[in-house]
Amino acid sequence: MNSDVDPSDIACLRAEVTGEVFVPGDPGYDELTDLIVHTGHPAVIILVRSNQDVARGIAFAREHDLEISTRSGGHSNAGFSTNVGGLVLNLKHLNTIEVVDESERLVRLGAGAQWDQVAAALQPHGLAFTSGDTTSVGVGGLLVGGGIGWLARKYGLALDSLVAADVVTADGRILTASAQENPDLFWAIRGGGGNFGVVTSFTVMAQPVSQVFFGQISFAPQETAAVLSGWAEHMDSAPEELTATAMCWPTFGEAAPPLAIMVCYAGGDEEAANAAIDPIRKLGTVVDDQVRPMPYGEALQPASDLPPGWRPRIRNRLTPALTADLATTILTEQANLENLYVEIRSIGGALNRVPQQATAFPHRSTQAMVMGVLLGSPEGNEPLLPAYEAFWSALAPSMSGAYSGFLSDILPADTDAVYPQQVYRRLAALKHAYDPCNVFHLNVNVQPAGADQH
Ligand SMILES: Cc1cc2nc3c(=O)[nH]c(=O)nc-3n(C[C@H](O)[C@H](O)[C@H](O)COP(=O)(O)OP(=O)(O)OC[C@H]3O[C@@H](n4cnc5c(N)ncnc54)[C@H](O)[C@@H]3O)c2cc1C
Repeated sequence: MNSDVDPSDIACLRAEVTGEVFVPGDPGYDELTDLIVHTGHPAVIILVRSNQDVARGIAFAREHDLEISTRSGGHSNAGFSTNVGGLVLNLKHLNTIEVVDESERLVRLGAGAQWDQVAAALQPHGLAFTSGDTTSVGVGGLLVGGGIGWLARKYGLALDSLVAADVVTADGRILTASAQENPDLFWAIRGGGGNFGVVTSFTVMAQPVSQVFFGQISFAPQETAAVLSGWAEHMDSAPEELTATAMCWPTFGEAAPPLAIMVCYAGGDEEAANAAIDPIRKLGTVVDDQVRPMPYGEALQPASDLPPGWRPRIRNRLTPALTADLATTILTEQANLENLYVEIRSIGGALNRVPQQATAFPHRSTQAMVMGVLLGSPEGNEPLLPAYEAFWSALAPSMSGAYSGFLSDILPADTDAVYPQQVYRRLAALKHAYDPCNVFHLNVNVQPAGADQH
């Protein structure tokens, strides 16, 4: 890759796009290079302002042999949305949120908007749909990957709400993808990540949600095993309005911390919310109960600040059966690593009713996502990697599939888990049609069919 771009070419680029162009040394460049835990040093950053800017940026990158990173909210756990010596298409100014048809609940979202902005804009209309649970995550990356949030059991993944999208492809075409137009591309961008182009806007059908009952319930540490098992069993029969996440904090060699279960009941009926949540409260000794009614947007939380030098190793797997036995296995294995944070997100319900082949997110039997985060620095964690692998091996018999959003290091086994063979083949054929040269490869990458991979 060529990181030396002729200044006269940069001057031309500046004249050709309506957005701002940054190169190293420019005022403002340094604020645009890094992600939460990843540093970058791109040769060129374009703060795009239109589809045409995106198309010109792609062409410029191809002319100069620059790798392309697509950046919406910049929360890539794998660091894909920045690079060293390449070009970053930063979509943060494409952040318009517009209710285009109130009666049909159709909403258009700029890919660069953040989920707290989406929630705030929809709240006055009494609308919401599944988003990420973190305020600053971007619309773009989450929607093309999946989108597991507090309304997942009631309304499915974020991408299940998608009706249409505008996509700029590797050859600079600006296409609409929907069930009617380019349906194959529409299938692929719902789960295929950034493989197929740059999505600049999304049209979604939102849901009539304004109030939720949300908060954390914490349990006495000595009861963690019994509560977690009971919770796993409860979620099997809980109403779909209830989505819940168990947060099993690491000990760091100290006394065990309380088990925290975050709950979100989608709806404003207090009696129904308590009927769904009370069985969880009764599982053990509650040491803290923060559940209260609030607008949906308030359930979204800011990302935690990480200590300097930390770059957590993140992996997840999906399970079709969230059982008491699995809960026990998870806790037993977690005990071998004192810096392993484990999060279990219940995500059955509506997600299970979408036909398996309807989108490129095929894991439609999933009941829960298990995420294991090795906290600390890469150097500090290096000696712990065999134990981390052992954790996942122990869970493997209960797991099927993975979610692309919560992966920090993409191993071949991760790609295989995200895209089972049949799905990968279909994606690879479409990749060949839309991006035969694999211009968009900073993602959980799908090689164009015909290439000698996978
Ligand atoms: C703190 C934190 C909290 C999170 N919480 C959740 C959560 O609750 N639920 C959940 O499902 N996920 C969650 N995630 C994972 C998240 O969904 C992914 O990291 C997602 O890619 C982030 O979107 P972004 O726009 O911020 O990403 P970016 O870093 O901007 O982009 C990541 C990648 O997505 C692709 N991409 C981004 N924008 C576009 C676009 N416009 N068109 C095409 N491809 C694009 C590109 O491949 C890009 O490299 C979280 C991640 C973090 C770091």
